[in-house]
Amino acid sequence: MQALRKLALGESRLVLEEVPRPAPRPGHVVVEVAAAGICGTDVHIRHDEYRSEPPVTLGHEVAGTVAALGEGVEGWAPGQRVLTETYFSVCGRCEHCRTGRPNLCAQRRSIGSFEDGGFARFVEVPATNLHALPDGLAFPEAALIEPLACVVRGLLELNRLNAGDRVVITGPGPIGLLAVQVARAAGTRVVVLGTAQDAERLELALRLGAEGALSSDDPQELTAAVERQLGGPPDVVIECSGAAPAAATLLRLVKKAGRFVQMGLYGRPITLDLDQVCYKELQLSGSFATTPSSWFRAIDLAGSGAVSLKAIVGATYPLAEWEAAFGAVEARVPGKVLLIP
Ligand SMILES: [Zn+2]
Ligand SMILES: [Zn+2]
Repeated sequence: MQALRKLALGESRLVLEEVPRPAPRPGHVVVEVAAAGICGTDVHIRHDEYRSEPPVTLGHEVAGTVAALGEGVEGWAPGQRVLTETYFSVCGRCEHCRTGRPNLCAQRRSIGSFEDGGFARFVEVPATNLHALPDGLAFPEAALIEPLACVVRGLLELNRLNAGDRVVITGPGPIGLLAVQVARAAGTRVVVLGTAQDAERLELALRLGAEGALSSDDPQELTAAVERQLGGPPDVVIECSGAAPAAATLLRLVKKAGRFVQMGLYGRPITLDLDQVCYKELQLSGSFATTPSSWFRAIDLAGSGAVSLKAIVGATYPLAEWEAAFGAVEARVPGKVLLIP
């Protein structure tokens, strides 16, 4: 089968190459991939800005059908529509593994970075990672449950949004647009900020429930516009762009005693005026990937329609056109770009 792979550290080249179709080891299943989302992380992996162990097939946002069961796997049948969590293995013994945070295990090996992922027709995963796909969710939508689970982790598990909170989100990419919907589902009021190139994506944010969608280079004008829209400074600011100027803007906007939530990755150290965290008595929180609990909640939010994944599905490309697909991600087209292997 064809697989989109990173072959070595130190080079940004990805290669579509022929690899053997995986056979399921005991306790594992092989999933036939129906759709796999391209994540900002895939772009970071490509450029060595996120840890990986090549040669490896990329892709960790995967939905498909069960194709083959390894020895000892029960409760799943070929042809079943499924999603897969992303950790191929964790140690199972460390403090984090034993307290429900396998995402923090130092020995975590995830698909798409350390183990072969979903940018191929088939992917092998532990059977314990599978979730049944709710009826009514098409595969491309279902592939967005992984980033939705990341947002649930950051906004609902490690932080708590309260009804009536005033929220500002930077970055109208897929994570930002999911954050808009989760924040709306939690009963908050949301304004989204982007850049001048984001006009189309900001428009989408408005359709998904944001009260305002603004872009401005003038800090004073921006502050005034946000406060006018929300009726005051934001209680919670959520950085989803991974762009340093956005973080600086949010530190300036956030209310005293407010909360700053980091969702985006910068891929390198950035400079920020952290004195503001003291002067304003801010709470700062971040989240890394997902935990099993965030998957269950994400599936409920998507399955019940509280969050529309359909609205965020952008362009889809066959695997052979992966270069155009990655180009679309880097050109920041609206919504999530997916590969259909
Ligand atoms: Zn992702
Ligand atoms: Zn561990």
